[in-house]
Amino acid sequence: MHSVFQFDDRLLKAAAEAEKAAAAEFAEIDAISQHGSAKVLRAFQNARVSAACFAGANGYGYDDIGRDTLDKLWADVFGAEDALVRHNFVSGTHALSTALFGVLRTGDKIVSVTGAPYDTLEEVIGIRGKGNGSLADYGITYGQCDLTAEGKPDLAAIPDAVKDAKVVYLQRSRGYSLRPALSIADIRAVVETVRKTRPDAVIMVDNCYGEFVDYEEPTDAGADLIIGSLIKNPGGGIAETGGYIAGKAALVEQCAYRLTCVGMGREVGCSLNQCRNMYLGLFLAPEIVANARKTGVFAATLFRSLGYECLPDPHAAAGDIITVLKLREPQAMEAFCAGIQAGSPVDSFVTPEAWDMPGYESKVIMAAGAFTGGASIELSADGPMREPYAVYLQGGLTYGTGKLGILTAAQSMIDKGYLKF
Ligand SMILES: *Cc1c(COP(=O)(O)O)cnc(C)c1O
Repeated sequence: MHSVFQFDDRLLKAAAEAEKAAAAEFAEIDAISQHGSAKVLRAFQNARVSAACFAGANGYGYDDIGRDTLDKLWADVFGAEDALVRHNFVSGTHALSTALFGVLRTGDKIVSVTGAPYDTLEEVIGIRGKGNGSLADYGITYGQCDLTAEGKPDLAAIPDAVKDAKVVYLQRSRGYSLRPALSIADIRAVVETVRKTRPDAVIMVDNCYGEFVDYEEPTDAGADLIIGSLIKNPGGGIAETGGYIAGKAALVEQCAYRLTCVGMGREVGCSLNQCRNMYLGLFLAPEIVANARKTGVFAATLFRSLGYECLPDPHAAAGDIITVLKLREPQAMEAFCAGIQAGSPVDSFVTPEAWDMPGYESKVIMAAGAFTGGASIELSADGPMREPYAVYLQGGLTYGTGKLGILTAAQSMIDKGYLKF
């Protein structure tokens, strides 16, 4: 490594120690990846995937074998009755919005039991900004059950909060917050609590960043619908765009009607030339997710050894691929992000700057040099420029390059005087 990249000897020593200290976590990540790979491989065989599935259909897309087989395959992997996997979900938010509008009707209520939802969902639900056709504009009300002080679902408060809910909504990932991601055990406990008083409520999980980080998925824990983005975990770094909805067949059908038209649903919508990428991405995803998680564990172990507070707790079950490093000062965040950028394969020559991103109160800095625009299964770091000056780290398609990205970021902090030994 030294012959190609110039890293401080003390940094390399700390990195070697961090890698040694993380051996048990790496082994667990490998075991989960092996299990995910088995699920995926068996599902490919069960679905009788053939080369014909990769040919792109055009036009209306009637009998698009690539699209229809991918839906079956996806449902099998995620332990769901059915799935809707489409390149024309433009983002995770679009897939989530489709699911919400697909399932909810005027007079219904959605209750989020993991506190405030991800920022982009606020406008969809109508918590922020009315008059644009949000759920609120259609007479769908919103309720919220906040997390406990420990950032866990408040099982004691949930029964009352969901008493008139049609949709009970959970966000698995921490998103841009310091609370822990939900583990599968957390999700199972919420499902059991909700079912006791509201057996017919639709339990919907925002599964973004959660796919393949554990042995099971929220659907295995009893969730009715899970939703995610293909430029995160399950696209394996290969899918160029897209999203998915998986779960109970009748609900997936409602979502398909919303995505295209009532009556036509999933039977239209050609896959163009996107199928091969989505199949290959799913095939690789368990291992790509493992690489991203190892990159995060390496970063947290290294930065903890250098005296920084990092999340998640290394001994807790993982719920997403995000690692939070509290760097304590704004210049340290800038130096770290500059290093992540410089350590990327694409756009390594540019320097990220904090900017006033729409919808955020403080400036936000973002570093990413990715093959797919905005794909955070690739190494990326971002965060709002405010206390505790934490960067949110995601991705790393390979562990080797992920580790080099982290070392380049640490070296950048050393060079600028924000990291001392
Ligand atoms: C990424 C993400 C979304 C969706 O975001 P898009 O940028 O629209 O794909 C929703 N929820 C969580 C927790 C996410 O991480």
